[in-house]
Amino acid sequence: SPIIWWVRRDLRLSDNPALAAAADRERPVIPVFVHDETVEALAAAPKWRLGLGVERLGKRLAQLGLRLTCRRGPALRTLTALVEETGACGVVWNRAYEPEAIARDTAVKAALKKRGVRAASFGGHLLFEPWTVETKTGGFYKVYTPFWRAVKDRGVDAPAPEPAGLVCPRTWPRSEAPADWRMGAAMRRGAGVVAGHVRVGEAVAADRLETFLADRLADYATDRDRPDRPGTSGLSENLAWGEIGPRHVWHAALRARHEGNPGAEAFLKELVWREFAYHLLYHTPRIACANWRAEWDAFPWNEDAERPEVLAWKQGRTGVAFVDAAMRQMHVTGTMHNRGRMIVASYLTKHLITHWKIGLDWFAEHLIDWDPAANAMGWQWSAGSGPDATPYFRVFNPETQLKKFDPDQAYVDAWIAEGRRRPPATALAYFDAIPKRWGLSPHDAYPDMVVTPAEGRKRALAAYESRDF
Ligand code: FAD
Repeated sequence: SPIIWWVRRDLRLSDNPALAAAADRERPVIPVFVHDETVEALAAAPKWRLGLGVERLGKRLAQLGLRLTCRRGPALRTLTALVEETGACGVVWNRAYEPEAIARDTAVKAALKKRGVRAASFGGHLLFEPWTVETKTGGFYKVYTPFWRAVKDRGVDAPAPEPAGLVCPRTWPRSEAPADWRMGAAMRRGAGVVAGHVRVGEAVAADRLETFLADRLADYATDRDRPDRPGTSGLSENLAWGEIGPRHVWHAALRARHEGNPGAEAFLKELVWREFAYHLLYHTPRIACANWRAEWDAFPWNEDAERPEVLAWKQGRTGVAFVDAAMRQMHVTGTMHNRGRMIVASYLTKHLITHWKIGLDWFAEHLIDWDPAANAMGWQWSAGSGPDATPYFRVFNPETQLKKFDPDQAYVDAWIAEGRRRPPATALAYFDAIPKRWGLSPHDAYPDMVVTPAEGRKRALAAYESRDF
């Protein structure tokens, strides 16, 4: 009897422990994607990007003579119906670590087992399962550097190759057409623009890694901070949807370090930030929805997401060039440089004293690499309310940052059109990506600052000092 591979954030065939286990005994494999409530809950850009990934995986499977069965409905009901229909002996999947997904998966596992159906989950999304990294006293890590030290020399299994000769079942179950789900519906105008920047699928992700290793890794330690240079891997989009496995990336970076590549260590450290984010999400799920440090509940965050200042931030029209460039980059490409993410998050939470949840939600709406763990950690780290956060008095000055990390203003020039005679295509694309109702045009005057860096800093520090943190 066949076995079901429940496809989730693991849109790949290689380095896929669940698929490898399914294919192990030469049983027929039925790949199944379920559009369940967790997919329903995704905001615009991630839902659209997931849809593209699912479509691509379906095509890849078709090349191998297999099919991706797509069904919409609650996971438990859909999977048990599929087990009945196909006579499957088991269901396998790679683990997720968000609390809702854990609750769902636990219920699915229990229900399947009760019916005598094998249900097994695997660790394919991370290098280190969050419960396997413990402090000396048996707790979890709250600070990155000791976490890094604890894992950096751990052995990580080599990534498994794509299973050869996957076996088809005698008949395929009925499938819905993912196109009918209209997973891009909420993207509206943006989809047309962002589509020019997405890089979908396993083969593309592997190429991306190779190009990065060959062309950019050597300078990564310095260039990773430069939004004006293509210094980073761009793999977050593919890692987020599992189009490349972390072991694949880890082992490639280890090899580069072994060969003496000077950027490899810094890159390994970033991969461990991703692990740390999941470690935190797993051990303290509240990181995604509430102040990680409860004392921050007393902080006078402004929670009005519709204020003009916040609208200016969302639109990339604060008048602060670094902030605006970064926000526009996100509208156009669906991603934002890490330095930009830190600057805009600091500006929103500190200069504009706005609750980080407003920023977290806006990112979740617009990022094609949206990741529940990295986004939550990034926002709380920037706001100061999270573990290992920047201290409250570290208020990034976006002008100083600009001088340091975009010294020729190339990044700003690439994204801001107003006031320029011949703006580049990137800067103009912003006007095609944003909602028409915003009524913005490249011929508008560039706005004055809603809050100057100096005023913002003063405001932020005054707010912090008004409380006893
Ligand atoms: P590279 O520099 O090439 O790094 C390689 C990989 O390491 C990345 O693909 C990513 O998986 C991981 N990584 C690097 N930096 C971090 C980090 N600070 N935290 C966690 N993992 C990291 N990353 C996301 O993938 N999704 C998000 O939704 C997300 N939201 C963020 C929100 C804020 C406020 C901040 C400050 C950071 C956020 N990040 C997020 C982390 C980081 O900005 C991106 O991972 C990075 O910019 C992706 O670009 P890259 O793939 O070229 O990274």
